[in-house]
Amino acid sequence: MRAPNITPDNKTVSSSTAGLVRALVDRGAADEAEALAHQALLDSTGTERAELLLAQSVVQVSRGQYVPALAATVEAGELFQAAGQTARVCDALLGTAGTLRAAGDHDTALATLEHAETLARSAGDELQTGRVLRQIGIVSSIVGRHQHALSCLEEACAILARHAGADEQRNARLSLLNARNRRIDGQPDSPALRAQAEGMLQDWVDLAQAMSDAGQARMAVMAWGNHAITLHPAGRHREAADALRALIPRYQAYGMRPNEGLAHTELARCHETLGEWDRALHHHREATAILREGGSSDDLIESLAGQSRAHEQAGDLAAALAALKEVRAIEQTGRADAAHQALLQRELRVELARMSSLWARQAVQDPLTGLANRRALEHWVADHWPRVEKGQRLAIVLLDLDHFKRINDTLGHDMGDQVLQEVAQLLKAQCRASDLAVRYGGEEFLLAMADCSVEEAAPSAERLRALIASQPWSQLAPDLNVTSSFGVADTGEALEASALFTLADRRLYAAKYGGRNRVVARD
Ligand code: GH3
Ligand code: MG
Ligand code: MG
Repeated sequence: MRAPNITPDNKTVSSSTAGLVRALVDRGAADEAEALAHQALLDSTGTERAELLLAQSVVQVSRGQYVPALAATVEAGELFQAAGQTARVCDALLGTAGTLRAAGDHDTALATLEHAETLARSAGDELQTGRVLRQIGIVSSIVGRHQHALSCLEEACAILARHAGADEQRNARLSLLNARNRRIDGQPDSPALRAQAEGMLQDWVDLAQAMSDAGQARMAVMAWGNHAITLHPAGRHREAADALRALIPRYQAYGMRPNEGLAHTELARCHETLGEWDRALHHHREATAILREGGSSDDLIESLAGQSRAHEQAGDLAAALAALKEVRAIEQTGRADAAHQALLQRELRVELARMSSLWARQAVQDPLTGLANRRALEHWVADHWPRVEKGQRLAIVLLDLDHFKRINDTLGHDMGDQVLQEVAQLLKAQCRASDLAVRYGGEEFLLAMADCSVEEAAPSAERLRALIASQPWSQLAPDLNVTSSFGVADTGEALEASALFTLADRRLYAAKYGGRNRVVARD
């Protein structure tokens, strides 16, 4: 299904001007790239213009020019659409999503990616489906929807293993392992956590080795870095410290300043765990110095808070207090930045709706099941939020079908679709007038319940679980059985919508981990 002028690494043939623009960006020559794109755009039309626009948007994103980048990817999408090149429409949507993600608007990025997923699946384009799923997985992982992120990334890896080149396969694997690391990040130490981290170590070693063997040197350093970081939750603190110390010169050699800063923070944490407070202080300080040059304010806050702990241990309370004061100052600037960021994201969303007929036409209904889709859910939540702020509770029930892939694999995709439609009907039947039933992802559904607490929502979830498990599925196919796992949460436990969804997702994951076909409504 791929358009003939596309090479397997997702780039246009390099003899084209668009190829040249991209090559210039890769080499860091953004000014030249922009000048060339600008000149060539003056007298190009159709798909040639679309290719140039996509290349130009890469330059614009690298410069933080998000609105023009968005305009470029949207116009490219429409031009490809007009030419009937579905695979390239998907690339344009990937570009739009990448721009939104760079601007910090993860929700709209996800909605755009889901649109691309539908398009790629309905065109039967496996390679594009794999690429889109990888991006959905990455963004979902960043926003803390770990269960969804992992299933998307696992599917992406499986698809790309069949259809993509070796480098792209390894990069997708890196995304999957990263998502696994994010899932365990910040969890309190426990034997289960140690076992999980231990299990991930060999995967990192294998990937890092494969990347070095293939000459992906920079990526290999990243993989080794993640290996070192994973030694810490595995309880191997001394080894972690040694590995991190050895990595710092390699980060320096590749000019990976933020990674160098984070390595110092991790090193400091290892030393804290080992009770070596003076070393911890040294590395927190190094981290702070690097992160002050540039780096996320969360990371800087983390290193300053670490400094404060180390000073306190050494009995230097004045220095401990000074570090905390700086944390407060950064938090205040952070709030101003967040307001600015929210404004930018709003502007981008308005632009997107204004410019993109593709995007604006996107229905608020899922075509397969007739349930509301994620966009509709976003609107519903936004409409209900003022009442939540006045103290009314809102609950969500998130459910994911168990081992659904097996159903597709053994009974076929069409049977899978029928199961999804049946489950959607059961969900609708359970719904009160004030609830919203949503197809949240592939085989993931959600019930948003207004004016409802987790205590009231949990029995509804339990009823739904029993109803799904006890359907006469064998009428559809003799060996068919369907069960589902549930995570339930309400706004009494999470003050922001994103935290509410993350909490439900975490509980859903706990339900899977605990053996599936069950409801988890508390931690
Ligand atoms: P788990 O119990 O851990 O959730 O296992 P699982 O097999 O359900 O999860 P996994 O994420 O590995 O697989 C989900 C599958 O759902 C893979 C994907 O192809 C399938 N899927 C997603 N969307 C659709 C769809 O619209 N129709 C059909 N038939 N299958 C879909
Ligand atoms: Mg799933
Ligand atoms: Mg599933």
